[in-house]
Amino acid sequence: MALVRGAVPERRPGRCAVSTRILIVGGGYVAVWAHRAVHRRLRRRMRRGEVTTTIVAPGLSHRFHGFTGEVLGGVLPPQRVATALADLCPLADLVDGTVTSVDLAAGRATVATADGDAVELGFDHLVLAAGSSDSQFPAGIAEHGHSTKNPVGFEELRRRLAEPWEHMVVVGGGLAGAELCAAIAERFTGDGRRIHLVHSGDTLVPELLPRYRGLARYVRRQLDGYGVQVHTGTAVLKVGETGVELDDDTSLPADLVVSTSGQRPVAIPGTEGLARHPDGRLRVDGYLKVAGQPRVWSGGDVAAVPHLVSGRPSPANALWAIKHGAHLGRNLARELRGRRPRRFAYLGLGRSASLGVGKGAAHLYGMPFTGWSAWLTRAAFFLIYMPSRRQAVAAAGELFAAVRSRGRH
Ligand SMILES: Cc1cc2nc3c(=O)[nH]c(=O)nc-3n(C[C@H](O)[C@H](O)[C@H](O)COP(=O)(O)OP(=O)(O)OC[C@H]3O[C@@H](n4cnc5c(N)ncnc54)[C@H](O)[C@@H]3O)c2cc1C
Repeated sequence: MALVRGAVPERRPGRCAVSTRILIVGGGYVAVWAHRAVHRRLRRRMRRGEVTTTIVAPGLSHRFHGFTGEVLGGVLPPQRVATALADLCPLADLVDGTVTSVDLAAGRATVATADGDAVELGFDHLVLAAGSSDSQFPAGIAEHGHSTKNPVGFEELRRRLAEPWEHMVVVGGGLAGAELCAAIAERFTGDGRRIHLVHSGDTLVPELLPRYRGLARYVRRQLDGYGVQVHTGTAVLKVGETGVELDDDTSLPADLVVSTSGQRPVAIPGTEGLARHPDGRLRVDGYLKVAGQPRVWSGGDVAAVPHLVSGRPSPANALWAIKHGAHLGRNLARELRGRRPRRFAYLGLGRSASLGVGKGAAHLYGMPFTGWSAWLTRAAFFLIYMPSRRQAVAAAGELFAAVRSRGRH
């Protein structure tokens, strides 16, 4: 079996008569921060084998999606956004594989390992942290489009960008789509390539509306400045080998197509009976427990975590996933120490986006700002929240080099 460290955490004779087994599905933000919170509080018990955490994830590497644009734009190398879980999660048992089903009543999960085996893992507590999957929308995207999420697809996109291409279509004009267009446009400025951003809504970056209309206008101005062709109020119906069909009976030529809209939360077989929000996310309570499941926890893209004040589900982004993971881990540790869990009370901070080096758009505690101050604030936050100090220091140097080289042009 593809175990990197440790052994399959059945109740282990010799280490401890009865251990509490925590199984974490996924190796993203929620998983890393949940494990770290448990480890920080229960290190001694983990060393004695009284508590075990097992993380199951394909590839056993944490991906820092926030700097996707910087990698595709050539500002950061690809290895900067992928860090081995073995370096991030001390004392965790790591299984390179995919959870294919869970039996909540029996406390068992089936894993398809990277070696091609099917193994069963028992658990006392389950953390569902599998995030969201690549978009299956529009039709044909899986066959002819490129992925920004799946590591293999992402590498393929990077490789294709380095080859000759003329037209690229980005589907979805939210912040992710706008950032992607800006990063690629900045890299290929002035060499005649065409980037089209297709957005079905009337206005780009709906995440910023209605409150931050000025920021949305700033985003649009930057894209116009790069020559990105923005198509609003029209949807891509179908992606083909040589282009995309739009719902206004027109089409666009495309050598490369990326969709940033329509991601769906990953639903593990065996969890069909769990309560879900209409958008497919798991319903969790204010303590990060899945509704009606005292030993199943969740957060991040896969969970609709109620905001303490508004009661609405918190947004699906990295900062919220980090906060969910850390809180969930603290609550798990509290329960294992016989204490009551605490309510998730994080209220949010704001949002930020990079439209190229020195061109940021951000709002922090309700205050909007743009340009260098926003770009530097975003960079600083991302570096602070990178799970690996080593990677953050290297990224800081590379971003500084990018700033210096832009200054010279
Ligand atoms: C291109 C891109 C750019 C982004 N930019 C930003 C940004 O600038 N700012 C921001 O805040 N957010 C950004 N996000 C969103 C952010 O990355 C997500 O909200 C965040 O990753 C959610 O964390 P998570 O832990 O829920 O899921 P993830 O970090 O996606 O982790 C999910 C993990 O589960 C694993 N997994 C999936 N299925 C299974 C299974 N069956 N068994 C085992 N493991 C499984 C995956 O391999 C992965 O390791 C971006 C996302 C993308 C894709």
